[in-house]
Amino acid sequence: MLNRIPKDVDYYRFTDARKSIQGEILLKHCHRLMDSIILDENAKTLSIKVDLDFGIDDFGHRFMSGKISTNVDLECQRCMQPMALPIDLDIAIAVIRDGDDEAEDAINGIYEPYFIADKTEPFPLFEYIEDELLLALPLIAKHEKDCVKLSDYNDNIEEEFEQQLEQKVNPFEVLKHLKN
Ligand SMILES: [Zn+2]
Repeated sequence: MLNRIPKDVDYYRFTDARKSIQGEILLKHCHRLMDSIILDENAKTLSIKVDLDFGIDDFGHRFMSGKISTNVDLECQRCMQPMALPIDLDIAIAVIRDGDDEAEDAINGIYEPYFIADKTEPFPLFEYIEDELLLALPLIAKHEKDCVKLSDYNDNIEEEFEQQLEQKVNPFEVLKHLKN
């Protein structure tokens, strides 16, 4: 079992040896993901939990399966407040060679295909994990419930502000003052 998450793995060697990887990646190593989330104090210590098994199944498919999970804060696009988003991904992929249609058909419905150019090419585990997490982020982050109240509150403040503005520039009020 590996506790350190390798950046790249030799996929064929890992599946042959039926290796397991269990450990954590600190979020600060995932620059693309960091660009998409709120970087508060909390984010500095955030990590991604990785629990993956490599192997060859009864049909000879070389798979990588398991879980990737983390918890990030996104900015809600309605109230601009932080929104916690737990991410739990079930992973089941099979690495196959580009253009190997037969292999792609064979794993259809069982594993997601991950294409590499040839057998000797290392599988970019780190990059794969970050890609999967980025794909799991919503296009537009919005609180499901909590922020409705907050946005009502904001609307009220805006209304009050507008009323105050109207009062200030009411021309009849100005005329009254002039007459006096
Ligand atoms: Zn919100």
